[in-house]
Amino acid sequence: MAEAGEPRWRGKQLAEALYRQKLTDVNAITTLPGSLRRRLMEAGWTVGRPAIVSVFRSADGTERYLVRGNDDQTMETVWMPEGDGGETGDGSEVEETDPTLSSTLLAVGRRMDGAPSKSEDGARRREWDRATICVSSQVGCAVNCRFCLTAKLGLQRNLSAGEIAGQVVAVLDRHGVEVGRDRVNLVFMGMGEPFLNYDEFMAAVRLLVEEAGIGPLRMTVSTSGIVPGIGRFAREPDAVRPKLAISLNAPDDVIREEVMPINRKWPIGAVIDAVRKVPLRSRERVTFEYVLLGGVTDRPEQAAKVARLVRRTGLPAKVNLIAWNPGPGIGYAMPSPESVEDFRRTLAEEGVPVYLRRPRGRDIYAACGQLKRTVEAEGIGNRE
Ligand code: SF4
Repeated sequence: MAEAGEPRWRGKQLAEALYRQKLTDVNAITTLPGSLRRRLMEAGWTVGRPAIVSVFRSADGTERYLVRGNDDQTMETVWMPEGDGGETGDGSEVEETDPTLSSTLLAVGRRMDGAPSKSEDGARRREWDRATICVSSQVGCAVNCRFCLTAKLGLQRNLSAGEIAGQVVAVLDRHGVEVGRDRVNLVFMGMGEPFLNYDEFMAAVRLLVEEAGIGPLRMTVSTSGIVPGIGRFAREPDAVRPKLAISLNAPDDVIREEVMPINRKWPIGAVIDAVRKVPLRSRERVTFEYVLLGGVTDRPEQAAKVARLVRRTGLPAKVNLIAWNPGPGIGYAMPSPESVEDFRRTLAEEGVPVYLRRPRGRDIYAACGQLKRTVEAEGIGNRE
């Protein structure tokens, strides 16, 4: 609006029309003067949600979407009903679930589209009572973690704030989510490194907080350890700062360099020093994500090292374990269920809060590290 020579408050009117009224036609934004609407249309502006162009549906209820961006590139977004296991996937544990939120929702019936259905008495019924949406911040990724399928794409481009927030609102609409009433968490853990697209990522967070009404404590951003980004993040106001997760994935710098070459630039110590400057709110904890690679990062003595490392940070922290999800052309092995359990138990015995992330949507390439715009995943799971 400012670029169009209009007062800034016109932007607020536009946001209201986009996010609250969900208008999809510039001409329908009647809060704007007719002359301005005509000018916007003549200049080629359109409004609306990004289109979900493909849906891959897992047996476990997870849905992976290809969402069309502002050009022909697609971004990946994942819907995980019921969160992803021992926790919601965003750093808040099951016990933090507010039972009053779900008490109004009846988990009965099964609608494949996940949309709310109405019972005879008109009560809302869903197959989920909480859900997590995993959001992409870039198309592809430049970080090149060795275990990640997204890395194979390289970085195609950054997503705009509108595209990042647009993924969320498109998925909220699809599932008929009512923000404020339904429990939905966002994790910025899809394709890309959010802190390498910092400005657009944070602008998207502000849109989601201020216009879509999703609280920052319902959001978790995961970084591979981009130290300057963590520094900027630490200075964001509480009102718009999501919770922070660090993608650790190794017990020490030697192994981390091997699985995450970014560690050469910002080793574990530098990352931890940066994280210490992030002001945590009451009961907030930093999450350390840890992908267990069979025979590489899943040994019991490594669990003890991870426990020491986490304790040494002095931060209120917890560890999310993720058993590696296989991807074509990636030379790692899945950890055995026994080594996963041993690793978890060792951390727990060392006094570190630890959660095992249940793999979601593995069959449709929707699980952690599997997002690669796998149009080639056709024939996998149910495709809409
Ligand atoms: S794990 Fe995340 S940061 Fe690493 S290559 Fe994959 S998308 Fe990028």
